Amino acid sequence: MAVDVKEYEGDMSNNRHNELTHVTQRLRRVLSKEVDVSVGHQQFLSDILLEAKELLNVSRVSVWLFDDAAKPSKLINYANTDWDGLITGPLPELAVQDYPNYFRAIINGETISANDAMTDARTSEFTDGYLIPQQICALLDAAIFQNGLAIGVVCCEGRFEPRNWLQWEVVATELIADCCSRRLLVHELWQMQQRLTEMAFQDVLTGLNNRRYVMDYAKSEMSRHQRADRPLSLLMIDLDRFKLINDKYGHDGGDEVLKQFAQCCNSLVRTEDCVCRLGGEEFIILLPETEVAQAMSVAQRLKEKAAALEVQYEGDIIHFTVSIGVASVNLNMPFSQSLKAADQAVYQAKAAGRNQIKLAL
Ligand code: GH3
Ligand code: MG
Ligand code: MG
Repeated sequence: MAVDVKEYEGDMSNNRHNELTHVTQRLRRVLSKEVDVSVGHQQFLSDILLEAKELLNVSRVSVWLFDDAAKPSKLINYANTDWDGLITGPLPELAVQDYPNYFRAIINGETISANDAMTDARTSEFTDGYLIPQQICALLDAAIFQNGLAIGVVCCEGRFEPRNWLQWEVVATELIADCCSRRLLVHELWQMQQRLTEMAFQDVLTGLNNRRYVMDYAKSEMSRHQRADRPLSLLMIDLDRFKLINDKYGHDGGDEVLKQFAQCCNSLVRTEDCVCRLGGEEFIILLPETEVAQAMSVAQRLKEKAAALEVQYEGDIIHFTVSIGVASVNLNMPFSQSLKAADQAVYQAKAAGRNQIKLAL
């Protein structure tokens, strides 16, 4: 029976249209899901890769990113499914000198639909070392763009026999590359947000937590300690005659003292203790689950260690001492009250001649 060509073509385009609509819907749903981008690339790209593998009925899907999008010299594998459809560890890197045609195409943003990967000029470079051993016969690769620049590639591999890639499959692969681009952007934004949060709670000079951090930390620790009926102690520390150090060695010399004292504090306390620079030459250490008597002995060790510290600065050795106020945090009062009490103890330590420890009443 003769086939009506027009009718046949009409059916085909309808099918293609339906396939693409179906793919688009599925990918849009995948992308709308909330994902945890704090996990590695393998995890946060995995749903896209698995979806792509199933939609295109290919043997493996992988995501590769250039080492440097402005001047690419290699492609690094960030995520991939294995032949069975499981997410596995990274594949070896690809260097530009080994695959110049392939790199050129991807850098230009071309979508490579190689029906027969062994004969296509852009993918035949992979023949001996890769295509033959793995029995990969068809490749469909689409560039991942960001800001109009190709930053990497999504690679779909078909095994065992060449394949006649359909138009909707090509478009679907490009959509998948766009999905990866969006997910990578979310990850970048998350990293930036992490950095900003860090900056907001970190003292730039010493790398210690700052005042904002200690206030938040104290609030949560106070309620935890109150619930568990556990003691919480604090040390308030002020460097003695710090102005003289600045006057003698300059501001940079003073800064070096602050940095080394910060390290000294960190080296002395437990990981669960919280060391902060309140500002200037004033520091605070919060000691969870610590009775005030133990806090006094921490203060004693810190006082001795600070006095013994030799800060090397431009050929000079700077010595300094600290005055410390120790307080048991009153869990039934606002934290500011305990801070005030510790501050008064510091004041008493100063009045008593400095290089002293006083317990807040
Ligand atoms: P005291 O023993 O009574 O505490 O005397 P002091 O000189 O340490 O106290 P004072 O409060 O008079 O001086 C603190 C000095 O700390 C004044 C200020 O210029 C200096 N300072 C504050 N922040 C910084 C900083 O980030 N770097 C440096 N180098 N100095 C700072
Ligand atoms: Mg001070
Ligand atoms: Mg001081």
